[in-house]
Amino acid sequence: MIHHDVTIVGGGCVGLSTAKHLSEQTDLDIAVLEKEHHLAEHQSGRNSGVLHPGFNYPPDSKKAQFATEGTRRMKEYCAKHDVPCDELGVLVVAKTDREEAHLDVLASQADANGVEYERLDSQAAIAEHEPHAVGQAAFYAPEAASVDSQQYIYALAREIQQNGVSLYTGHAVERIRERSSGYQLTTSNSNIETTYLVNAAGLYADTLAQQVGVGDGYQVIPFRGEYYEVTPDQSELCKTMIYPTPDPELPFLGVHYTRRTDGKVIVGPNAVLAFGREAYENTDINLSEFKDILAYDGFRKLLQSQTMLSVAWSELNKSYRKKAFTKAAQRLVPEVENDHLHKSYSGIRAQLVSDDGELVKDPLAIETEDAVHVLNAVSPGLTSSLPFGEYVAEKIIELDDRSSC
Ligand SMILES: Cc1cc2nc3c(=O)[nH]c(=O)nc-3n(C[C@H](O)[C@H](O)[C@H](O)COP(=O)(O)OP(=O)(O)OC[C@H]3O[C@@H](n4cnc5c(N)ncnc54)[C@H](O)[C@@H]3O)c2cc1C
Repeated sequence: MIHHDVTIVGGGCVGLSTAKHLSEQTDLDIAVLEKEHHLAEHQSGRNSGVLHPGFNYPPDSKKAQFATEGTRRMKEYCAKHDVPCDELGVLVVAKTDREEAHLDVLASQADANGVEYERLDSQAAIAEHEPHAVGQAAFYAPEAASVDSQQYIYALAREIQQNGVSLYTGHAVERIRERSSGYQLTTSNSNIETTYLVNAAGLYADTLAQQVGVGDGYQVIPFRGEYYEVTPDQSELCKTMIYPTPDPELPFLGVHYTRRTDGKVIVGPNAVLAFGREAYENTDINLSEFKDILAYDGFRKLLQSQTMLSVAWSELNKSYRKKAFTKAAQRLVPEVENDHLHKSYSGIRAQLVSDDGELVKDPLAIETEDAVHVLNAVSPGLTSSLPFGEYVAEKIIELDDRSSC
C-alpha cells in the first residue's frame, strides 16, 4: 500500500496552500487527494474572486488577520506566478442613515487592521469612482483586488508538484480508519496510509472529520450563491467593484458587482439554502443530503430566528425570480435592467453551523494528535488561503516535532 507522511484531503485553495507551506518548510513526503479529475471545481473556483483587505472583520479575529495579510501576500504571489490580478479597489455604498452609520464601523475596523480607505460623503464623490452607482455615502478601499481564482489554484498545483508533492486527482476519500499509528484512507481509486492527516475537504470536511470522532457538534450547511453576468454592451455600468453596506447580523456580504480579470462584470451572489452540498442549480436536489440538513438541530434552531427566516425567504425569491435579483442589483446601480443580466455560474459556500444554531464566523481548524481538520474555511477563504494554509502547515510541523521528542 502507498504510504505518505502527510496526506491532505481536498485540492482547494486551503489544501493546496497547506501543501505549499509544508513542502517549503519540511522534508516530509506529502500527498494531496482530490476527488474531482479537475481542480477548482468547487468553492475555490466558483466565487467572486475578490481579495478583501480586512475592513469587514472585527480586529483580533482570525478572519481580519488572515484577510489583511492574505490580500498582500496573494498579490505578490499572483505577480510572481503570472496569475491575473487587478487592484481595482472596492466601493461599499450606503443607501440609508443606518448603513451610513455602519460605514463608521468599517472605518474603525480598517484603522485597527491597517487597511487603507477613503470616506466619500456625497453622491458626487461616489460618481467620481463609479459613475452609475447611487448612494448617500460610501467607503472606498483601494487595496481590494480582483483575481482569477482558477488560475491561482492551478499555479499552486504546479508549484507543489515542483516541490515534490504527489497530487492525486480523481481520488475521492470514502473511508478513514484510524490505525495504531496514523490512518488508512480508502479512496475511489486506491488505498493510502498516512502518518498525518489534513482534512481540507470543504463542503464534506465535517463528514470526514466525524468518521474519526472529530467535529461532533457541527454540520456544514450549503448556501448556494448565484451570479448573473452584465451583458457586454452594458459592462461599463461597473468599472471596478461595487458592494452594498454589509448587514453585521449576516455572514454573507450581499449581491455585489465585480469586474473580473477577463473584463466581464458579474453580479451576485445571493445566499440561498442549497438542497444538497453540490446542488449548483436551483432545480438540483440530493435527497439524502437534504434530509440531513432538515434533520439537523442546529439548522432548525437557526431558522427559529425571525431575521434568518425573512432573509431565507428573500434569498429564495432572488433565486427563483430574476426580477427580485435584478431589484437587488438595481439598489446599487439603478440603471441596470432585467435584460442586461444573463444567468451565469453559481458556487456553494460550506458554512459551518453549530448544534446551538450559530453560524460559525471565524475560520476553524481542529487539531488532534496526528491530524488537522479544517471545518470552517468561510469567505474570504480565498483571500485568506496563503496565511491559513501556512497556519495549518505549522500545526502539522508542531505535531511532528512533538512526536519525535
Ligand atoms: C459564491 C462564493 C463566493 C465567494 N467569494 C469569495 C471572494 O470573493 N473572496 C474570497 O476571499 N472568498 C470567497 N469565497 C470563499 C472561498 O471561495 C472559500 O472560502 C474557499 O475557496 C474555500 O476553500 P477550500 O479549499 O476550503 O474549499 P474547496 O475549494 O471547496 O476545496 C475542497 C476540495 O475538497 C474536495 N473534496 C471534498 N470531499 C472530498 C473527498 N471525500 N475526497 C477527496 N477530495 C474531496 C473537493 O472536490 C474540493 O476540491 C466565496 C465562496 C463562494 C461559494
